[in-house]
Amino acid sequence: MSAYIHIVDGAPASLPLGKIVCVGRNFADHAKELNNSVPQEPVLFIKPSTALADLGAPVEIPAAWGSCHFEAEMTVLIGQPLTRCSEQQAADAIAGVGIALDLTLRDLQAELKQQSLPWEKAKAFDGACPLSDFVRLPASELQDQQIQLRQNGQLKQDGNSADMITPVLQLLAYISQFFTLQPGDVVLTGTPAGVGPLAPGDELQLNLSTKLNITTHIIERS
Ligand code: ZN
Repeated sequence: MSAYIHIVDGAPASLPLGKIVCVGRNFADHAKELNNSVPQEPVLFIKPSTALADLGAPVEIPAAWGSCHFEAEMTVLIGQPLTRCSEQQAADAIAGVGIALDLTLRDLQAELKQQSLPWEKAKAFDGACPLSDFVRLPASELQDQQIQLRQNGQLKQDGNSADMITPVLQLLAYISQFFTLQPGDVVLTGTPAGVGPLAPGDELQLNLSTKLNITTHIIERS
């Protein structure tokens, strides 16, 4: 796995690697495609820093645990500590915006959910969070970003951050009620509809509006 570091506007950021806080079911159309109800409050889970990988390098998926799904998600890099913060404090703490894959072992997740067990093995494994570089973005543009994923040239996911159930600043304020966000932490803001299984040899193209355009390849972890 290639070493990952946070990069903002093309330069390495002096921020450590931290946890990744994720929100499930933040787009109604995605909740529906997995036959999940639309939650009253954000569904949160965490990936450890060992899940970080470079989205620009070949993306490794494990072979042993059933299907591994792509979920393209807009991503926020945290630059200042946030504890029980306001939306304004959240806006001031954002160091950059990127795009990520929330890799999910879907069969294993379904099995764990069925047994009412935690999802960690399906979501937090090594390399489960390939991240792009980050770009700076005015807070006023956070809810106007197109999130697209193409698999072998076919458009599979095509959503807009305008359709998030909980918008980014509200989400950061909510997360910080439970978990302090520290500089270098990353927040994944949920995936639009269209998720599906990956196969070794796949070419993926991920776009965040016109700001980020990343092409990557899927390989099987040896
Ligand atoms: Zn996700």
